[in-house]
Amino acid sequence: MAIIKCPGCGNNVSDKAVQCPKCGYNVANGLQNFQQQPNNEIPEVAKKFNWGAFTLLPLWGFANGMWWWIFVTIAIALIPFGGVINFALSIYMGIKGGEMAWNKKSWRDINHFTKVQEQWKIAAIVVWVITLLLLIISIFTAGAIFSSYDDYYYY
Ligand SMILES: [Zn+2]
Repeated sequence: MAIIKCPGCGNNVSDKAVQCPKCGYNVANGLQNFQQQPNNEIPEVAKKFNWGAFTLLPLWGFANGMWWWIFVTIAIALIPFGGVINFALSIYMGIKGGEMAWNKKSWRDINHFTKVQEQWKIAAIVVWVITLLLLIISIFTAGAIFSSYDDYYYY
């Protein structure tokens, strides 16, 4: 028995389950059924906060069916307070990006979508860790410069 992501809602279910206990999706019929579903509802996993979209919006957009983000963010960066606007857009896309990506791009199935978004999330975490490290290094470097200045000043 294996645990898979329900193609209907992204919840963890057993691959031996007939129906998903959360959304009622017919797991037994598999992915063919998903393609035939009349109302292509937005799955739960696409509604989650999207760290990839929030952190790496231009690149994430490019890879998730919204190539124009790369041009939009560069154009906005050139105008006054563009950084603030881009930051606001990043937050907005963190909230809405998953749903938009789900609708814009043709995904094989929800597992494909989930896997790609998880890879972007890992990339986002790497970016945040590197940013934090650079921040810590710059604080220590600044501290070292100031303390050497003190040495010079007092002796
Ligand atoms: Zn489900």
